[in-house]
Amino acid sequence: MKDVYEYFRNESEYGDFDLDGACVRLSEAVKCKSVSDCEDPAPFFAIHELIKKSFPNIMAAGTFEAVGRSVLITVPGSDPSLKPALFMSHIDVVPVVEGTEKDWTYDAYSGAIAEGCIWGRGTQDIKVQVFAELEAMEYLLAKGGKLKRTVYLAFGQDEETFNTGAQAISDLLKSRGITLEFLLDEGGSGMKDGAVYGAPGCTIASINLMEKGYADLKLTVRSKGGHSSRPFGGTSLERLSRAITKVCDHPFPPTVCTTLKGTFNALKPYVTAEPLRTILADPDKNEAKLAEYCLNDKDLFPFVITTIAPTMISGSSAAPNVMPQNMSAVINFRLAAGMDPEKLMAHCRSVIDDDSVELEFLQANAASAEARCDGYGYAKLAEAMEHYYGGVVFVPSITTGGTDAHCYEQICDTCLRCGPFMIPEGEKGAHGTNEKMRIRSFAQGIRVLIRLMEGTCFSA
Ligand SMILES: [Zn+2]
Repeated sequence: MKDVYEYFRNESEYGDFDLDGACVRLSEAVKCKSVSDCEDPAPFFAIHELIKKSFPNIMAAGTFEAVGRSVLITVPGSDPSLKPALFMSHIDVVPVVEGTEKDWTYDAYSGAIAEGCIWGRGTQDIKVQVFAELEAMEYLLAKGGKLKRTVYLAFGQDEETFNTGAQAISDLLKSRGITLEFLLDEGGSGMKDGAVYGAPGCTIASINLMEKGYADLKLTVRSKGGHSSRPFGGTSLERLSRAITKVCDHPFPPTVCTTLKGTFNALKPYVTAEPLRTILADPDKNEAKLAEYCLNDKDLFPFVITTIAPTMISGSSAAPNVMPQNMSAVINFRLAAGMDPEKLMAHCRSVIDDDSVELEFLQANAASAEARCDGYGYAKLAEAMEHYYGGVVFVPSITTGGTDAHCYEQICDTCLRCGPFMIPEGEKGAHGTNEKMRIRSFAQGIRVLIRLMEGTCFSA
């Protein structure tokens, strides 16, 4: 694939935008150490203050509310017949892995502006989107733009952990009787070659319409332990291992959800490689073959199946000749479209088929609904992305991790997950060391957001 910047188009637009100022404001936000669930709320409130002082036109036209540590800004539009739009992401960040602080070229919370980049935790995930959304709105209001559609700007406090901030904002909007036309959240994984979809040489990027569910299942097996010469009935380790193995050996069958069908439909004209070319000649008839193909591909399999990943085990014996006592393990699942925790639990109980294995979810949420890709929001977002990224095929897809967007399903049928920032493949470093954002990528993402907001929310 060519360098990402070869796909950049129309970079001269909005030439009067204050890019230097925008970089400084993002840099200031990075300096606030808003690690999810840290005891001290001060870094979060420092971001609130930074927003209030940095965006005077938004503050004049709108209302700022702190919802816990999260932020909800309402900027009213003039036409009440239009359903509001919501632009979101989150202000929390993951911590820096202990012992790696010194590996950073610039300190993780320095917000250094150097070498054409803004450096630090949150510059990719995802203070960049928080501030780009604010910058775009501020720019349009400062130019005298007239908002016809009400816009919400909503920034959660704990996307990286429990999503309680987004849920609280969503509940608040619901209590006010609001339903949304569409929302935009983080998501997508930038440009990549279409080879994994059988379309080599075609550059694709995704607009994600759903996110998989999440569950941590804890398995506990109790035992008094004892001398290992008398393991009557099996040790706790043996019974626990067997239970884990049974779960792993009994995955749910693969399914091709509506969103994934949409991915392949969009790519069909570009697919040249077999067997996909033949399969896609009649995707409805060949659905089982398509599911099977994806299941056996390391990149595509998470899209068609509830994944099963045993991740933790504890309680083993300290000596080879001593049987372990109580043991537990955790299996992490990512739930495919249509799967929910109740179905998953029933399935695990049935395949383990051993009452002495206790099962409980530490955390669990169903797969999200699938957003509409035939509607207004998707079309407008795709248009804005295509305007600034030429020669890229945008396709609907699935977020295999989790994000805050699913919390808004109760008030929105078009939850779009797409970060508008395209960065070089080698610089993708969310949650990693030397996370940084190229200023050129930041600027282009802001242009996408200005065009999208202008086209959907402002009077012509
Ligand atoms: Zn994020």
